[in-house]
This record gives sequence, structure tokens and C-alpha cells, in this order.
Amino acid sequence: MTQDAPSLDQLPVTTLKGVGGQLAGKLEKLGIRSLQDLLFHLPLRYVDRTRITPIGALQPGVTAVVQGEVRGADIVFGKRRSLVVRLQDHTGLITLRFYHFSGVQKQRLEEAGELRCYGEARRGASGLELYHPEYEVIDSTRPAPLQETLTPVYPATEGLTQQRLRGLLAQALGYLQKHPPTELLPDALREQLDQVPLADALRYLHAPPADAPVAALMDGNHPYQQRLAFEELLAHHLSLLLLRRQVQSDGAPTLTLAGDLVERFKTRLGFALTGAQERVVHEIAQDIAQPIPMLRLVQGDVGSGKTVVAALAALAAVASGRQAAIMAPTEILAEQHRQNFSQWFTPLGITVGWLTGRLTAARRRDQLALIASGEAQVVVGTHALFQEGVEFKDLALIVIDEQHRFGVHQRLSLRQKGSQGSVRPHQLIMTATPIPRTLAMSAYADLDTSVIDELPPGRTPVTTVVISEQRRAQVVERVRAACAEGRQAYWVCTLIEESETLSAQAAEDTAEQLALALGELNVGLVHGRLKPKDKEATMAAFKRGDIDLLVATTVIEVGVDVPNASLMIIENPERLGLAQLHQLRGRVGRGATASHCVLLYGSPLSQTSRERLTAMRDSSDGFVIAEKDLELRGPGEVLGTRQTGEMAFRIADLQRDAELLDSVKQGAHQLLHNHPDLCANIIERWLGEKQRYLQV
Ligand code: ADP
Ligand code: MG
Repeated sequence: MTQDAPSLDQLPVTTLKGVGGQLAGKLEKLGIRSLQDLLFHLPLRYVDRTRITPIGALQPGVTAVVQGEVRGADIVFGKRRSLVVRLQDHTGLITLRFYHFSGVQKQRLEEAGELRCYGEARRGASGLELYHPEYEVIDSTRPAPLQETLTPVYPATEGLTQQRLRGLLAQALGYLQKHPPTELLPDALREQLDQVPLADALRYLHAPPADAPVAALMDGNHPYQQRLAFEELLAHHLSLLLLRRQVQSDGAPTLTLAGDLVERFKTRLGFALTGAQERVVHEIAQDIAQPIPMLRLVQGDVGSGKTVVAALAALAAVASGRQAAIMAPTEILAEQHRQNFSQWFTPLGITVGWLTGRLTAARRRDQLALIASGEAQVVVGTHALFQEGVEFKDLALIVIDEQHRFGVHQRLSLRQKGSQGSVRPHQLIMTATPIPRTLAMSAYADLDTSVIDELPPGRTPVTTVVISEQRRAQVVERVRAACAEGRQAYWVCTLIEESETLSAQAAEDTAEQLALALGELNVGLVHGRLKPKDKEATMAAFKRGDIDLLVATTVIEVGVDVPNASLMIIENPERLGLAQLHQLRGRVGRGATASHCVLLYGSPLSQTSRERLTAMRDSSDGFVIAEKDLELRGPGEVLGTRQTGEMAFRIADLQRDAELLDSVKQGAHQLLHNHPDLCANIIERWLGEKQRYLQV
């Protein structure tokens, strides 16, 4: 690099010919300001315009360039008026079909002689057809050159065409010679990879040579793509590790999980902890004994007994004279925790506070006072716990239950809300959705993880059957029979739209029909639109056994614990993800009787749906199901939408690039230790704006 040549990231896009304020604004929307940003705007995929495909060799669904003689252009009046052009080469004949065309266009095509077209071959009325292909009239005396490279297709935005982007990138590539991009990977790390200089990788990916391995490039596993995917994954990983480091640079209260209070709690519990629970409690105890904030994720399948683990952690805070907060994602679950915690803690002389968004003003005021004075030693609630105006006296531990779908940002803002000066509370996140390793390594790199991989003794596995909606009447009889034996059942209604109103309506209708069909049973109803009071009353009645059949929306998805319920019907299970189905099914199989889950699907089922329901029937292991979910639906669905936004990669793909993750992890640790100065630059290059609001 010449000494005074500005580096690529110092050259604004307006350096390029034809880029004024307006275009610069559009580029900015894609996060592109400098030439370096532009060069890191990588193709989503490629199309091949480097060779001519013989017409006879075309296959449906394939996008290709063909060239031949025009054999007539006619207007055809079918369902829709169209212009049909016949094109012939020495291997065959194909139809070009245009629905939008002008008289002039028709005439030009008629007289074209030789034509070169580019488009996707599809089956049409007259065999293979190209619909609205791009075309160019060929002067046979002067053969027009083909594209020499694969044509990149970029992520675009409104008013910014592929054509325009390609033009800009062609210009930007011209700068690479004089202004190489900054290499951010140290040599040692590059050696682990393919040693591809960054400039070469960028040049290659924006304009791959004609003989480039098309399949590899299309699939994204060309070494040059992998080089950049690695760097991108590294950036994401580093950003999480840095956040963790930042949090842990603050102090935390040291807590001891031992003593009289803990012993009395365990004695009164009525059961012994499983080996897995003991192990996880021990891991937590070690964390909170340190003056560094704990950042731990506890994964435990539904029913594995996470609540009691949370209670023990909370007890450590209380025993040290401080406060613990337990946050649940829904009112129903928060209410259930309140009952459990009160039942466990009140006899030990511990005051349990309660805060949700639905308290009356007076009750809220009382609770806030208890929390602020420290009188409430353990506080249970929803996210209202961390809203404006809630002041803890001395919060030492935050437990977030069933909140794996929270994005990093929310995790962080909670951490922040609980902090006092430079002392932060310990943080425990619990999830019943097992997280496949690849996702855990990337989305949760800021957390340590513990796994409760054992269910309490005496559980009988749930038998799952997959039955068509056409046999609904039989299923209703099954509910009748089960309830006649004194058991209880759930009937879960799902809806395509994520509308609380619509699903509430559907559940109401179903409850009415079932009450009619099952006159001798008490049928209850819960959904998201009920008043909290009514919801609580219904749940309590179901728990007492006063309600036989509970019709519900997916509000009962997480946490609800009624051991006598041993039958669950899920209507239209094909509308839900596997993780969610697994959660729902976890509501049964909690007692000693054999439990059943009926997946009552609407036919016909798509192939993927069939596979998913089969996976549900064949496995009750949350980890197996989560892996299957990842395979069938991708990381976005498994992680939830919030996280997906945060985890949007430009070039990397968690599934495809899973085998890079181990070296990404190693690389990140090396960098943090040996090249801390480079970390921020790598993060900035790949995450840019995004990481700025990750500040704690
Ligand atoms: P989850 O992990 O799904 O949150 P819960 O904490 O709700 O599970 O526990 C499910 C049920 O198992 C509860 O009724 C709880 O009291 C019971 N339980 C938890 N641990 C044990 C254990 N070690 N032995 C017996 N029962 C247990
Ligand atoms: Mg739970």
C-alpha cells in the first residue's frame, strides 16, 4: 500500500462516478458508506450467463442463455393475450412468451434474425417456454461476447437495481489494486483457514471467472466465501464475548448457597433433587460465590424441574440478606410461580413480592414499597418487574424463566435495569427448549450453559398419536372416556394468524361445541383475551380438579403444571413449530398415569408437516426434536424472530457453516487475548450499526 493512499474504508461511496447524494442515501440504507462497505456487500447468489445452452438441452426450472434464429412472432389469444416468438438452434425449438409487449417490439423481434435470450425455462402450453426473457438481437457478422464471469445477484433495496449495484461494484473493484482492504485476521488465524488474501476473495466473489465452480459458489461453500463467512461468524461471536466481558468487568455480590435456610427448604420439599438438578445447583453455587456477575443458561426439558433449581438460587440471595427477582414470560406462568414460591418460602419466613402489569394502582404502590424497602426478599412477576419506577433495595439475582426467545438486546437491558452502580445482579436464564449446539455456540456465546438432562423419577412417557381431523368425533369420545376415569384433559386450539382476538374466538367456539358434545363434563376456557382474574380463577379450578376439560389457546404453552391432566388434544398441530409442540405436550405426562397426546391435523398435510408430526410422534427427547426443527425450518424459526433479526448474516449460514464454528470459537478467544485491538474493527466491519445498540 502506498503510504498516503487512503484506505478503502476512508473512501466514501461518493468517490465513485455517478454517485450523488440521492444514490448515497439509498446505499446508506444498506449500511454502505465507504468503498469498503460496498465491497463487503456480497452477492446473495449468482446467475450463469457465461455460456450458451443448446435449446435441446434445456431443463424446466433452469435459468440459462440460449441463442437461435427467430422462426416467427405471433400474437396468441389464449386465456391472456400474449406474444409468442419461436426460437430455433440446431438442437431444438423453444417458445418465448411475452404478456406485455408493444407493436414495435413485435416487429423488431420478427425481423431480428438471430436472438440471444436469458431466462428461466418453464413448462408452458407449447412445451418448454421462456417467459419474458431478457434478449438481445445478435448481428451474426459481429459475434457479441458472452459475459465472462458469473453474474452476481445482490441484496438490493427499493430504487437500487441489480444493474446499478453491479456497475458500482465494477467501479469499486478498480480501487482494490491501489487501496487494499484492511486485513483484520492475524496470520496465525489465517493459516487455519485457506490463506486467501482478502482482496482476492472480494475480487473473486464479485466477479467469479467463467470457469469458477458454479455449484460451490451457488451453495456458498467456495473457499473464498468460507473465508468471509468465517470472518462474519467471528465478528458475531466476538461481539457476544465482548458483551460478556463488559458485564463481567463489573462486580457482583457474593452469595452462599448453604446453611440452615437451604436445609429447611430441602427437608420440606417432599422429594429429593435428581442428580442432574444437584449438579446444576452446584454449578450455580460456584458462579454466585464469585464477585463476578453470573451469566448462565439452564436448559432442561419440560418437566425436568427447573423451578426448584431457581428457588434454590433465590434462596442463596435471601440467605445473604439480599433480594432475588423471578421473571416469567406470561401472567399464567408468573401466577404459578407465585404460588410455588409462596408455598415454599412463606413457611420459612420469607416474604414473596408480586408484580405484574395488571395490578391495581393501590396494590402496585404497596408492592413497589415492599420491593424498595427490601422487605420483599423474593419478587415474582412478569417483565413489569423491570419497568420504569421499580426500584429494588438490593437485587442480587435475576432469574428469567422460559425466555430463550428473548433477543440479546432484551437480555442486556434486563441486566442493566437490575444494576446498582458498578455492581450487577447475577443472572440465570432458564429454557425448556433445548438449543442445538450450533445455535447455542452462536446465539448464546455470552452465556455459560448447564443442562438438566434427567427427569424426576416416576414419570411415564407421553404416547403421541397423529390423527386426521376427519376422526374428530372419535377423539371427543376419547376425552369423555378419560374424564370418566377421573382424569383431566387439555384441548388446545391453534390459529394460523398470530392474532389474539381471532384465536380467542376460535377457542370460544370450540369450547362451546365441546361443552355441547360432552354435556356431563365441566369445560373451562382460557385464552389471552380474558381478564387476568378470570384466567387465574379458571386455572385454579382446573388445578383443583373442578374443571375436567380445559380448552385453551397456546397461552398454556409454557410452564403450566397440573399433574392430573393426562390427555392433550392439539388441533391443527401442523401450524406450530416443533419446539412449541414439544412445550405444549410437556403439560401432560407430569403425573403417575400414562399420558397421551393427540395431534389432530387438518388434511391434506404437506410433506414437511408430515415429517414434523412424525418426529413428534417418534421422539419425546427435546434435543432430538430441536435438531429436527433446525433441520426442517432453519435457525430463524428455532431461535424466534427477535433473535433472527439480530442473527441476520450477510454471507454465513449457521447450518451450512456449522463446521466452522469450532475454529470461530478458538479464533475469537485467541483474538481477545492476543489482538484485542482488532476485535472492535472486525465487529464494526460486519455488524456496523447493529452492535452500537448492543452497548450495555
Ligand atoms: P420445568 O422444568 O418444566 O419448569 P417444573 O419445575 O415445573 O418443571 O417441575 C415439574 C414438576 O416436577 C413439578 O410438579 C415439580 O414439583 C416436580 N419436581 C421437580 N423436581 C423433582 C424431583 N427431583 N423429584 C420429584 N418431583 C420433582
Ligand atoms: Mg418451568
